[in-house]
Amino acid sequence: MDTQRQVVDRLRSSFRSGVTVPEQFRKAQLTKLMSMLKENEERFLEALHKDLAKPRFEAVLSEVDIVINDLHVTIANLSSWMQPEYVSKSLATKLDDCSVRRQPLGVVLIIGAWNYPLQLLFLPMVGAIAAGNCVILKPSEVSAATDRLVAELVPKYLSQDCFAVVSGGAEETKALLQNRFDHILYTGSQNVARSILQAAAVHLTPVTLELGGKCPCFIHGQVNIQYAARRLVWAKFFNAGQSCVAPDYVLCSMATRDAILPAMRQALEEFYGKEPQKCPDFSRIVTPRHWSRLMDLLGKTSGKVVVGGESDQEDKYIAPTVVVDVPEDDVLMAEEIFGPILPILTVESLEKGIDFINSKEKPLALYTFSNDSSAVKEVMERTSSGGFCSNDGIVHMTLPSMPFGGVGASGFGNYHGRWGFETFSHHRACMLRGWALERLNSLRYPPYTETNLGW
Ligand code: NAD
Repeated sequence: MDTQRQVVDRLRSSFRSGVTVPEQFRKAQLTKLMSMLKENEERFLEALHKDLAKPRFEAVLSEVDIVINDLHVTIANLSSWMQPEYVSKSLATKLDDCSVRRQPLGVVLIIGAWNYPLQLLFLPMVGAIAAGNCVILKPSEVSAATDRLVAELVPKYLSQDCFAVVSGGAEETKALLQNRFDHILYTGSQNVARSILQAAAVHLTPVTLELGGKCPCFIHGQVNIQYAARRLVWAKFFNAGQSCVAPDYVLCSMATRDAILPAMRQALEEFYGKEPQKCPDFSRIVTPRHWSRLMDLLGKTSGKVVVGGESDQEDKYIAPTVVVDVPEDDVLMAEEIFGPILPILTVESLEKGIDFINSKEKPLALYTFSNDSSAVKEVMERTSSGGFCSNDGIVHMTLPSMPFGGVGASGFGNYHGRWGFETFSHHRACMLRGWALERLNSLRYPPYTETNLGW
């Protein structure tokens, strides 16, 4: 088996040969990636079930189809994205050919996380291939079954000279990061992101960080309680709350809280039945270690569990759980929950809600539920977050036409659709100049006089 260094060297020499640059090569590889996903869909769904007990529908929607949709958009538009972009010119550059040209960066490293182990590798990879790069994928070792399948299938479908999978955990990733890359896209936690940045700094490698944080769901004023409850419960408990864009906590008035709680109980029963543990549509916590972290939070909260709270260590199960009377300094508000526990905090006005959100780190997503569209607009305009969605959760990130990425502590840079192509491209300012207008040029040469200012 090749060492990490040999893999990086092989890809670098392929990149230098120019093989990845032609549009035809890029489209052929993107098409093969699509075939890999379609022809092995059942095996991928099985692996995702093994890792997280992902329900079939959730896995198809958020792991397979989301990548296939992005592939369709990218293949259909690649030719126009690759065209030089001609720019406006000044008088002195009137005769020049001035354009911004997208060039591939080189060898790109994509480090994935375990919660959407396919999506978080292959969605960035679509942009990286489209932009003409060689790519190393580093799947999360935590989602081991998916990791193994990705490592088996990628070399069977994609050019082995240009694309590779390097498996391993923290130690292997640290070793890999000692190599020089031309871009690194990292998805994962804020703590590890700091060491990724440090490793990248050694080689001055540009980085995209896709991190997490606490995504608020602010419910203000009147809402359709049944619809709000269903959408909130779906967004929160999709993948058992292990989504970077899951609503992390709810902010609402005491009156709204009392009205929405019965509606949430009803929605949960409609979705998962009276015994969610027996329902095939509810995921499990990824490992016993992650299960213990969540149970520890539940054990330490000073809030009151009003829905759920049941658990089963053997089965890595935690019931969809709602906690009320949660103070701002509670353990549930200290870090991203990343599991099926939803605290509800109360605020009594729009102003206080906005202040609360702005007093925290900028989240990856911010949700605002309200019948009052001017209040929604006000929250949108007076806060900052990676993405924003009103009266629903998660769905804003399914559109390839919108950038997906964080701001502040939730990360920087973005991808999806054209945004991924742009992230993995260098925007080269190119001026093609001939020999004309030398008299005009002479106005800029020394010795400088007052007439130079006319140039
Ligand atoms: P994780 O444990 O799978 O780690 C992510 C990657 O980092 C893995 O490939 C892992 O092998 C590697 N890694 C771990 N320790 C390392 C180290 N010391 N040095 C180098 N590499 C190391 O996932 P996680 O960190 O538990 O991910 C959960 C976090 O990711 C949450 O905060 C979540 O919100 C965030 N997330 C963000 C997005 C997004 O798109 N913004 C998507 C999913 C998850």
